[in-house]
Amino acid sequence: MNKYARAEPHSGFTHLKQIISLAGKDKKHWIYHSGIDTLYEQSGFKNVMQAKGCVFDWQCKKCGRLERVLPKQFSLDRIRGVAENIPLCDGCGKVMRPNINMRGDLDWDDRKATKQATALEEFLARDDIRKHSVTVLEIGAGPAQPLAREYAEQFLKNDKYRCCLIRINPVKERTSQFANEHATFDQLVKKNRVA
Ligand SMILES: [Zn+2]
Repeated sequence: MNKYARAEPHSGFTHLKQIISLAGKDKKHWIYHSGIDTLYEQSGFKNVMQAKGCVFDWQCKKCGRLERVLPKQFSLDRIRGVAENIPLCDGCGKVMRPNINMRGDLDWDDRKATKQATALEEFLARDDIRKHSVTVLEIGAGPAQPLAREYAEQFLKNDKYRCCLIRINPVKERTSQFANEHATFDQLVKKNRVA
């Protein structure tokens, strides 16, 4: 938590803004983010979908309260090995938990993520988006955590969009486990190649 609280956007976020601005002022964009930090928000991006939630949003399992809790309200006593100042719900007084979707997490409150996803889907369904080519920049997405990668590739698979997928800094961890990935990707590219 403290690591996320200390994190500052690196120059890549500025470069991404520059790349988007090069596309022209009339070009619209969305960020699909599988990370749980707020670096896109901190960098000034407005349309952000966080697929796994955000480490600074906290939820109450008892009464359903969901709110942004500033990092300074939470701390860890490393000597005693206990968390201190765990946020308590203003509504019912119970202990809150981070609004992060952990694997198999049935208690995750997905209302915020669903609202973001709906807004993104409405954006993608707009006529002025579907009439034009969609450029997807997939940045730093690896096969071990394939959420962002699979989301990016769906535009290649979907005939509704004329899509260009640009893969930047692909993470190649455990590549032997994903030996067939390149073959699949090559098939997608071949299918969408303009003659
Ligand atoms: Zn509560």
